[in-house]
Amino acid sequence: MNYPENLANKNFQAENQHFWPPFTQISLASPLKEVVKAKGALLYTKDSTPIIDGISSWWVTLHGHSNEYIANAIYNQALTLEQVIFADFSHPQAQKLVKRLSDKTGLQRSFFSDNGSTAVEVALKIACQWWFNKGEPRYQIIAFDGAYHGDTFGAMAVGERNLFNAPFEKMLFPVQRLSWPDTWWGNEDIEEREEKTLNDLKRLLETPTAAVIFEPLIQGAGGMRMVREEFLKKLTLIVHQANSLIIADEVMTGFGRSGSMFAHQRAKVQPDLIALSKGLTGGFLPMGITMATEALFEGFLGSDPSKTFWHGHSFTANPLGCAAANASLDLLEQNPILFESFEVKHKFYLEKLFKHPKVIKPRVYGSIAAFEIAVRDNKGYLSSCGKKLKAYCLQKNVFIRPLGNVVYLLPPLCITDSQLEQCYTAIENGLDTL
Ligand SMILES: *Cc1c(COP(=O)(O)O)cnc(C)c1O
Repeated sequence: MNYPENLANKNFQAENQHFWPPFTQISLASPLKEVVKAKGALLYTKDSTPIIDGISSWWVTLHGHSNEYIANAIYNQALTLEQVIFADFSHPQAQKLVKRLSDKTGLQRSFFSDNGSTAVEVALKIACQWWFNKGEPRYQIIAFDGAYHGDTFGAMAVGERNLFNAPFEKMLFPVQRLSWPDTWWGNEDIEEREEKTLNDLKRLLETPTAAVIFEPLIQGAGGMRMVREEFLKKLTLIVHQANSLIIADEVMTGFGRSGSMFAHQRAKVQPDLIALSKGLTGGFLPMGITMATEALFEGFLGSDPSKTFWHGHSFTANPLGCAAANASLDLLEQNPILFESFEVKHKFYLEKLFKHPKVIKPRVYGSIAAFEIAVRDNKGYLSSCGKKLKAYCLQKNVFIRPLGNVVYLLPPLCITDSQLEQCYTAIENGLDTL
């Protein structure tokens, strides 16, 4: 069989003369496969068997592809009001959406932007300017090893410094780091590692800190690294006792992914700022929202122009995005059991898979299940075993996209039991070939 390495540069350039795809070394890339339609958990190319989308098209597709209810909501909205400047006008879909999000999170204010990275940028800027407006400027931000918060400059700065952002390192603002005490089935030293992080946190917080930012319960791009709920609870308590702010980056974990509507709710912690995107519109349209407490909002009031939050995007609160988000929330509210019980399905298959000698560190929260391939090369993200497994699974019509040697499934909620089983079977058989 052909692994991606062996296909190196065969046809990408010949077939794709104008695309510049994300996160892709073109010299090693296979040609992009053209998808002509998608329905539910399936992607259809022109002539091959449908492919199961095992990772919800980069974690965005929540209910399923081309969901009719959301599609109709967007269509009807497009015929009614497609876009309006949000600084001087509002509209019913935005009104409805922010009220619903506020009821769900207890955070009263929503600031709209366009994607996960901008939602994070806005959260960081609100936090820093809030302290500035109080007349107590603070510049220390605390983040975690392995974090991923997006690819714009501020988001890169708080994300883990690695290969991906090395060219810009000197231009990124300084951030204090803590280790992320991730856990898995049967992990034994977890309490010690949590303790160490919390002690380091206390020490860092002796310096006045604008905010602590993290991905609640699950670090996504860093390798689906999961922490215990009680760790987040302790962390939050310490941050609030030190009078600093908490930014929960729920861009991946929001909207049921963790098994609760929001991951911070599963951990029973209350953030001051929440960044949302990805599943926000059910995965139909790009939109970001940063939610903030009323106390933060009030820090920007006053007649002094310098107190204003001078930030905005052309498509702020785009009505089509808001209509999609409202429709997606309808679906989540109608059938919460779908996201609440998904974990049980994953556990069933993951327990079986755990017997495979190449499977280590299994873990699951909600509709996100992950494990690591036992490897000797220790190359992390650049490890080739994940790529080989990906190529094998694709031949079996299952699309996965391992993060180095970390293999995960993060399917749309509509995936059928037999489709999910097909994913696990492909992975298990693929592991035998490595
Ligand atoms: C994907 C992601 C982002 C960035 O979102 P984009 O829409 O890709 O800019 C930020 N934070 C987390 C946790 C993410 O998973």
